Amino acid sequence: MSKKESETREFHAEVRQLLDIVIHSLYTDREIFIRELISNASDALEKLRLTQLTENQVFDANLPLEINISTDETAKTITIADYGIGMTREELSENLGTIAHSGTKAFLEKMQEGSRPDMIGQFGVGFYSAYMVAEKVEVFAHSWKEEEEHLRWESDGASGYTIDEVEGQRRGARIVVHLKEEHEEFAKTHRVKGIIERYSNFVGFPVNLNGERVNTVEALWLLPKKEVSEEQYKEFYQFTSHAMDEPRYTMHFSADAPLAINALLFVPGENVERMGLGAQPPGVALYCRKVLIDPSPEGLLPEWLRFLRGVIDSEDLPLNISRESMQDSALVRKLSEVLTKRFLKFLDKQASDNPEGYREFHDRFSRFLKEGIVASPVHQELLAGLLRFASSMTEGEELTSLDSYVDRMKEGQEEIYYLVGPGREVLEKGPFFEGFRSRGLEVAFFTEAVDDYVLEGLREYKGKKLVAANRSGIEFEDLPDESEGEDLSEEETEGLVSWLNSALDDRVARVDAGKRLVKHPMVALLPEDAPNAQMRAMMAAMGQEAPESKAKLEINTRHPLIRKLSSLQGSQRDLASKVAAQLTDHALLAAGMEVNAGEISEAMAELLGELLE
Ligand code: ADP
Repeated sequence: MSKKESETREFHAEVRQLLDIVIHSLYTDREIFIRELISNASDALEKLRLTQLTENQVFDANLPLEINISTDETAKTITIADYGIGMTREELSENLGTIAHSGTKAFLEKMQEGSRPDMIGQFGVGFYSAYMVAEKVEVFAHSWKEEEEHLRWESDGASGYTIDEVEGQRRGARIVVHLKEEHEEFAKTHRVKGIIERYSNFVGFPVNLNGERVNTVEALWLLPKKEVSEEQYKEFYQFTSHAMDEPRYTMHFSADAPLAINALLFVPGENVERMGLGAQPPGVALYCRKVLIDPSPEGLLPEWLRFLRGVIDSEDLPLNISRESMQDSALVRKLSEVLTKRFLKFLDKQASDNPEGYREFHDRFSRFLKEGIVASPVHQELLAGLLRFASSMTEGEELTSLDSYVDRMKEGQEEIYYLVGPGREVLEKGPFFEGFRSRGLEVAFFTEAVDDYVLEGLREYKGKKLVAANRSGIEFEDLPDESEGEDLSEEETEGLVSWLNSALDDRVARVDAGKRLVKHPMVALLPEDAPNAQMRAMMAAMGQEAPESKAKLEINTRHPLIRKLSSLQGSQRDLASKVAAQLTDHALLAAGMEVNAGEISEAMAELLGELLE
């Protein structure tokens, strides 16, 4: 009886790290390991069910699709067995010896940087969670492929594992958890029963404990809403997304036309991408009549909805739809369209029903809405309506929306004005805002780096053009209300403008007199067609040369400094040139355009020296 190839292998370094964290820092809710193992068993059964559709040679073909859990108080073990897809030798070592899960990888990197142990709650550590309670775990397995080996994988979770051949295995996997002395409670029937009841009610397969059926099979998403409790939703969310947090929003939705859809979608409590983890894989699984088609279907929902978790079930889908054909299928496109729209409307309703709650969502997830505005022109308007921002009409921490802005628009106002900058205070003090304030025109303040790009992409909202308040091309007919003091005469203005245009010819596109300013003498405006600072940075990053775009200057002929400059220009050209250069430098600086700070201060020192002489 020669046992074929018993081999000992080392864990991949990442697995060792993960085990170390699991064993040493995951103390809360140890019982979740049972949920994780049942979830894996359920996944394996789902995969088998799918395999059976296309393969007619399946090992142990008449075994029932069920999960059997048994406990042994004397031996201090709990065993979770499924007749699922099983594993080959390679799969055992690949799946249980390395970490393929990109989220887990990224999580480990974060942990290495020494950050936030509380973040662990955001992740299911899957199979390895067994090591919170185990001194040793054995996995007996046989693949669904008849010709594969009968295997036993074993590890104490320290450095490595062994795999040997052990005859007599049934199809699927049987996980035997050898409990540590202090965790022997998990070998007690009544303790385990309570846990299974909590976590397995929505497992689509029978779960038996020591031979007795514990769960009633229900696909939660197919039930009428009235019959599902908040607690069940929460448990379903935690079970299917391996999450520990509570769902922030739950959208349970069914439709018959144009497609038969049952969907149960969750917005997680936290946005894990915000914690520095890379882009997450899609988290909404695709089912057809309770049969899992794809747990993480690319191209089902738009990429910017990747933060969603849950299930979409459509009986209109062909069961054998493949990953490749998914994106081309008109049916899938329709499904995506219907669900995306429904979800955005759902968010809109949350926003009006509970603005504070919505704000918490917005604080964490607005980045995805913005991504959607850029990526999905058809959803732009719905998405834009979901944005929240401060504006010159909001107070303190209050935020507003584009709809409220539009409601407040003054008579005759055709455009929505906005500014993007580092913060409200900076924007309010800068030269761009005052002309709007003094005319009672609202300006929306956006403060994220992506906003410029997003708003340029949006272009308009409900037929109103979005216009950056720092661009030229906004013409005011009247002088601002607060404007006081004398103005230059038409002739003086003409003389000054024409001199400035020749003196500053190489630095700016044009100089004009205008009615925009109140307290500032001069402002530099971005020409209407020029790329903004962010676009320029992006173009530079992509190795493209941004077209040269010089600012247009607008001067305030009511400002004492400009009036003085007008007379100085006739009498002391040289000094006037230096003053004009200084004003220009500061206007460009305020506009975030390229200037050399060193040169400005040098020129300033020279100018002051001359004036004080
Ligand atoms: P996850 O379930 O998040 O992928 P796990 O660490 O729990 O991560 O499991 C890793 C992999 O091991 C799974 O993706 C699956 O391929 C395999 N696996 C785990 N449990 C089973 C099982 N009962 N039957 C078959 N394969 C399994």
